[in-house]
Amino acid sequence: MRLRLVFCHKERVSWFASVLGCCEWIELNRQIVGYSNCGPGRGSVKIAHFRRLLCEQPSGAHAASRPGGKNGVQSMKVILAQPRGYCAGVVRAIDIVERALEKHGAPVYVRHEIVHNRHVVESLKAKGARFVEDLSEVPAGAITIFSAHGVSRAVEDDAQIRGLSVLDATCPLVAKVHKEGQRYVDHGRTVILIGHAGHPEVEGTLGQLTGPVYLVQNQADVSALDISSDTPLAYITQTTLSVDDTRSTIMAIKKRFTNVIGPDTRDICYATQNRQMAVRKLSKMVDMILVVGASNSSNSNRLREIGAEAGIPSHLVADGSEIDPNWFVGASTVGITAGASAPEVLVEDVIDALRAIAPVQVETLPGAEESVEFRLPQELADA
Ligand code: SF4
Repeated sequence: MRLRLVFCHKERVSWFASVLGCCEWIELNRQIVGYSNCGPGRGSVKIAHFRRLLCEQPSGAHAASRPGGKNGVQSMKVILAQPRGYCAGVVRAIDIVERALEKHGAPVYVRHEIVHNRHVVESLKAKGARFVEDLSEVPAGAITIFSAHGVSRAVEDDAQIRGLSVLDATCPLVAKVHKEGQRYVDHGRTVILIGHAGHPEVEGTLGQLTGPVYLVQNQADVSALDISSDTPLAYITQTTLSVDDTRSTIMAIKKRFTNVIGPDTRDICYATQNRQMAVRKLSKMVDMILVVGASNSSNSNRLREIGAEAGIPSHLVADGSEIDPNWFVGASTVGITAGASAPEVLVEDVIDALRAIAPVQVETLPGAEESVEFRLPQELADA
């Protein structure tokens, strides 16, 4: 048997002791630091000094035969980020669909996924919501809900022309960015929107402003802007961006243009900022980060990137079925967070999937308590 071990946690020592007798060499950060031809407890290296563990095995057969769990994982500590999961904008949007169904009966039509989560969409579908990408799919007069991401003025006008009865689930913090951008336009400024091309929130914001607006995604886009350096400018941002990346883009804008104002990173919403802060904290304590969220969820993707940038293997998973037991070789402490559109039931599903790999002990990292709530549209408030 050829088994390569690099240690990070003292807890692993007991497992090491149990397999030491069949180890051919021991590595630390890919350097061979010791050989073992001895029995348990007589290794040629001081295991407790090692910080990181990387354990590779050429065959799963040996791992499966060890007691405790799969792939050499004997037990796992799971640390849950706080806060994680649903934000106030998502709660409000889902509430609007559910209350509209209660008040008006099925079907109600929702333009785009109400929030970016398949589980949420499927459960609303089961209750009678119909999801469409284009308003031409909605019968005249039908109850129509705009998603939390917001829509352009063209979509609002289209709904009016079609005589649709609209309930607007646009997150109030997205609507606030729309108003802010329009205020800049009204003051004669050209607007730069920092955001991801093609994201529905960005499409909506671009289409809400009645003046010139340029989309930039990064510093390179700022360099490529065909605007003279003294043009009166203002920048606004998508609400779910990485705070650090956005700061760099803002700095590039300020460096290139002489007459520019903007909200710094304050357009990035409280929920996005809190979840990113929690993942940064989590990444100092874990061997791996799992982000529960949809692949098209902007804020979930940013959480995964933050974990990866901190040097921690990080995976975005929709639910427990996407967990790969091979990821956990050498990972004794796993951090879990969830994007703002992911329900807690999916976090539980992921924990259950981990329990199928090894015994799991769960704790929650202390973090910001959120108490933000958004009012429902008046006509649904009493539904
Ligand atoms: S992530 Fe932020 S902007 Fe998006 S719905 Fe939630 S609170 Fe609103």
